[in-house]
Amino acid sequence: MTPPKNVPLLDLKAQYARIKAEIDRAVQEVFESQWFILGPKVEQCERRVAEYCGSPYGVGVSSGSDALLIALMAERIGPGDEVITTPYTFFATAGCVARVGATPVFVDIDPITCNIDVTRLEARITERTKAVVPVHLFGQCAEMDPLLDVAGRHGLVVIEDAAQAIGAEYRGRRAGSMGDYGCFSFFPSKNLGCAGDGGMVVTRDEAKAQCLQVLRGHGAKPKYYHSLVGGNFRLDALQAAIVSAKLPHLDAWTAARQNNADRYRRLFREAGLTDGGPVGLPESLADRRHIYNQFVVRVERRDELRAYLKDRGVGTEVYYPVPLHLQECFAGLGHKRGDFPESEVAADATLALPVYPELSDEQAEYVVESVASFYS
Ligand SMILES: *Cc1c(COP(=O)(O)O)cnc(C)c1O
Repeated sequence: MTPPKNVPLLDLKAQYARIKAEIDRAVQEVFESQWFILGPKVEQCERRVAEYCGSPYGVGVSSGSDALLIALMAERIGPGDEVITTPYTFFATAGCVARVGATPVFVDIDPITCNIDVTRLEARITERTKAVVPVHLFGQCAEMDPLLDVAGRHGLVVIEDAAQAIGAEYRGRRAGSMGDYGCFSFFPSKNLGCAGDGGMVVTRDEAKAQCLQVLRGHGAKPKYYHSLVGGNFRLDALQAAIVSAKLPHLDAWTAARQNNADRYRRLFREAGLTDGGPVGLPESLADRRHIYNQFVVRVERRDELRAYLKDRGVGTEVYYPVPLHLQECFAGLGHKRGDFPESEVAADATLALPVYPELSDEQAEYVVESVASFYS
């Protein structure tokens, strides 16, 4: 087989080529209007994304990180408070907790889903615990019913980090609609990406939505009268218009990602690499809709394989090489290697393979063939 020149981890040029006219028109409209900050395009995007996520209110913000930050601010979470999440996630999940002056408290992951191991949650709750932030990692929802049950019994706010999980479902409910707040990112590599930074918080509570709107504009209501200290967390119209233009394609993209995942499973099995072999496949649980922001395998000799694939033109990524409890900036939390073993094992063994919607049969076959030739 002649190797494809390259199989990138994500091919946004291929996506743009297919929807160029729609995106260009959306951008053009914003330029014609010269309305760049908030305004009707942002409101339209908020309505559409909130509806897609099964939540009544959406508040557009400047990034997924700021979505998490502003949700914590809206709950007045700060110094002396504890917020529970996992150490195996993108930095922002716990970084935002530290930024409001609160303390991140970690719970290890379930090795099957890489999401919070809810059976370990209750033991970490103290009288200082104010919130729990489940992360729907890689596009598959965390075990929400038992989590909501524990949170409800302890009066904890639930802030879903749904940055990787737009459209994912848990027992028929959409990611972001189950907790008090659902935080989304439109970073270009997410399944619904804009052309820069952007994000959204969805909520079913009107008062919370109003509070978020005030906080994203420096806490001013009315203009120039500040009862709260907020920040500039506004979503701009250009990004909102692009998100609205892409949203009608999202379900088809998700279906293509799911097909790609199924094809990988079949190809890896056919190649004899699974079931006791060097490649562990990700599981998609029956009560969930996995949207495959990433297709993450567990492999032997991960770093060597990654370098080998790079030489063959296959893009991969390690999400994430250093669990958060071992990050230098969190040294003050006093953790050491061994504290969250499942997160540490995952950080050492996982590898994300290209699963973007436009990935072709030949490209997928080439990826699996390359992995097979590494282990042969
Ligand atoms: C991408 C991401 C974020 C942050 O989103 P940005 O828009 O990049 O700020 C937060 N949490 C998780 C799990 C993410 O993947």
